[in-house]
Parts: sequence; C-alpha cells; structure tokens
Amino acid sequence: MPDPKKFIPYGRHFIDSDDIDAVVDVLENHFLTQGAKVPEFERALCDYTNARFATAVNSATSGLHVACLALGVTKGDLVWTVPNSFVASANCAVYCGAEIDFVDIDASTRNISISQLEEKLAKAKTKGRLPKVLIPVHFSGASCDMQKIQHLANEYGFRVIEDAAHGLGGSYLKSKIGSCEHSDITVLSFHPVKSMTTAEGGAVLTNCPALNKQILLYAKHGVTRDPDLMQSEADGPWYYQQVTLGYNYRLSDLHSALGISQLKKLDGFVVKRRELVARYNTELKHLPLSLPLSEELHCSAWHLYMVELQEHDRKAVYEKLHAKGIGVNVHYIPIHLQPFYQNMGFRKGDFPNSEKFYHNALTLPLFPSMTADDQHRVIQALNEVLA
Ligand SMILES: *Cc1c(COP(=O)(O)O)cnc(C)c1O
Repeated sequence: MPDPKKFIPYGRHFIDSDDIDAVVDVLENHFLTQGAKVPEFERALCDYTNARFATAVNSATSGLHVACLALGVTKGDLVWTVPNSFVASANCAVYCGAEIDFVDIDASTRNISISQLEEKLAKAKTKGRLPKVLIPVHFSGASCDMQKIQHLANEYGFRVIEDAAHGLGGSYLKSKIGSCEHSDITVLSFHPVKSMTTAEGGAVLTNCPALNKQILLYAKHGVTRDPDLMQSEADGPWYYQQVTLGYNYRLSDLHSALGISQLKKLDGFVVKRRELVARYNTELKHLPLSLPLSEELHCSAWHLYMVELQEHDRKAVYEKLHAKGIGVNVHYIPIHLQPFYQNMGFRKGDFPNSEKFYHNALTLPLFPSMTADDQHRVIQALNEVLA
C-alpha cells in the first residue's frame, strides 16, 4: 500500500551494497587519496565515453574552472554560455577574470539557440569582440547541436567546453555525451542528483594531449613532474616544479571507488529514467503543459523531466503539489537575473526565451528508484491541481 504522505523528491541518488562495499574496501585497504582508485575511475570514464583523457576532480565547478584555465581564459577575454543553467556555468569564466555574456535558448529544445548564436557571432565579429570560449549546456541531459556549434567554432575561432553536468549517460548522433568529438573539453558532474554520484565530484574530458597536460597542471597546484612542462632539468627523481598557479581540485580514492561502482550501473539508471519519461510523456499529454520533445526519449540522459505550465500560475501549482508531498522543483533562475550578474549590467528582458521558460517551468520527480506508485501519485496530483 503506497504511503500517500510520503514526500517524493525531484531527484535522489541510488546507492546499493556494492557501492557501500567499494567505499569500505578503500577505507580498510588502500590509500584514501592519490591511490589506484582515481586512475581506475578515470580509465573507466574514458572507456564509457570514448574520450581519450579523463581527469577526476572534486566537482564539476572545479572542472569548469580548470577547463577555462587550460584554454587560457584570462582577463580581457570573453566567455559565452546560456542563462538557463546553474550559476557554475558562468562563474568559471569570472574566476579567470574574463567577461561573461549569454546566448538565449531555443524555446523548444531549451538548449542554446543556434540561430541566435549565429547572429550574435556575426555582430561580435564586426565589433572585434568574439568570445574565446563558448560553454554550451546539455540542458536536462539532451545534447546541444554540437555539429553546428563545432562548425561555428571553426568559422569564428572560438573554443568549446561542453557543460555536461546533466549529460552523462546520454548520447549525440552515434556517440556518448563526453566523447569530445565536437568540442575541446567536456565537464561532468557526480553530484548526488545527477546521473550517477561520487557524493561530490566531477571529471574533465578531452581528446587533446596538450590540453590534458594543462588540465592536470591546473587541477594539481600548478605542480608538475612532466619534463615537457618543467622550465629546467630535474635535480633528481624527487623533483617537481610549480610552473603556474594551480589549485587542489583532486578527487579522493574514496569518491573514485564510489564512482567506479556507480558507473557500472549508469546505463541501468538511464533505462529506468527513460521508462519513467515515456510514461510521463503518455499520461501527461492531455494536460495544459508543454512537455519535453519526444525525439529526446532515447538520446537524453534525462537528468531532469521539465514541463512548462500553459495557463496556470506556477507558484500556486508548486505549492499545491508540495502540500500533496510531490517535491517538484524549478530549474533554473536565469543566471543573468542573479544580483551578482545584475551588478555587471545584465537586465530583465535581455534573454526572453530563458526568462519565459523560467516563468512557467516545473521539474517533476524523476530518479532511478522511483516506483510506479510514486509516479502514479505525481500524475494523479497533477491531474487534480491542473483540473
Ligand atoms: C550541477 C551543475 C554544475 C555544478 O556541478 P557540481 O559538481 O555540483 O560542481 C554545473 N553545471 C550544471 C549545468 C549543473 O547542473
């Protein structure tokens, strides 16, 4: 008998006894950090995504920061991303002293609008203010149009960092998100609400050996033992040099052991998410809601299932659903409307598609351990509230 008062969150990690055993094993037998689990996790990520190199870091936020540093982002540079993302997608550029700007989203895909990107690039070129880096975000786990983005990157000479915090487990054309086939760097997140977890954690993927060396350098204090990066001969086998200012963004062996164990279950998690999404798509069709594009069913990683209200007040719907124990959420308050970014001169109305999406959006519960009864309750509650 389902408990009608049980709170159903919008997202939740899934941990089983294999995960727990993997972490306990590290605690009892191995290094807690800088042991064998980190490289094992990095290799597993390469095997899964088909990227050549992976560096595990302690969050996607750290990963985005080192990705910008590795591409040489600095004061005076311009970085573009989208407004409908978590603030980390923009903050990474600000950490480097660069200027941030945004490209609005396409209302149907909810990803970066390629036509607006084209227009903005053409204008920026005439003004001599082209971006050094573009950070497209695979919103809710569905890939951006990476072929078109790569084409524009070649035409205008900017670099591309995929913010794939939502995307691990999803695919684009014939490749996994993370393959870096159409970008310089891809960044993943293993925060507990994302497709799989290491508690906190992230990874930076690339196919370029030179970029990978820079990523490692910036994630590890700017310190290296690599003769190619050192500025003089080694004094001896113990020798290392700090050649730039880096950070301690390492992931630990404890976190990596959890990641190795979770990665084995990732495809199963995604299958479960897709089953739940297919049912939402069918059973919510008759309600006054805009649903995600149905063609995303088999390629998105489905980090989030988001609907847009067509005629109801979002706050009222949110409150009524919460009163019924349905933990709907909202993603995201557009970054340019945050006070920190308003102080840089961004204004309401600057990116109308992102603002309209935010105004009507609701994230429905979706996670691998969600039961058919849980989902039935969500669908039932929506029917009652939107009646
Ligand atoms: C979660 C998230 C991040 C940050 O991930 P952390 O691992 O928590 O630092 C960055 N970008 C997007 C789009 C996210 O959803």
